[in-house]
Amino acid sequence: MTIFEKIIAREIPAPIVYEDDLVAAFNDINPQAPIHVLIVPKKIIPRVGEATAENQATLGALLLAAGKIATQLGVNETSKGFRLVINNGQDAGETVPHLHVHLLAGRELTWPPG
Ligand code: AMP
Repeated sequence: MTIFEKIIAREIPAPIVYEDDLVAAFNDINPQAPIHVLIVPKKIIPRVGEATAENQATLGALLLAAGKIATQLGVNETSKGFRLVINNGQDAGETVPHLHVHLLAGRELTWPPG
């Protein structure tokens, strides 16, 4: 069981900021911006590179949730903004093998990312 499955099952306390049938979202324990939310599928997909056509609805739900959470947190407007990041594999810095979308906002984000 991944740490994210335990959070979704409420076995580890973490404030859930959004939840629907397919995905859940909670604050990152080590935030890299004033807003740093992780959006994860409830049914485990290890990483985006292993997703299949069967996961299509879940993959879409992750992005739709991102928009809703950004609205909820007041950053879904072009004068503000947010960044979505998915780390896939070692070189990208993936540390938890349970697909997650990082939603970062609340400060000006530099480009390119590190
Ligand atoms: P990644 O490096 O893309 O795999 O991201 C994993 C993220 O999970 C990191 O940003 C961690 O800070 C975060 N994380 C690890 N454990 C927890 C936890 N118990 N609650 C919330 N976030 C966590």
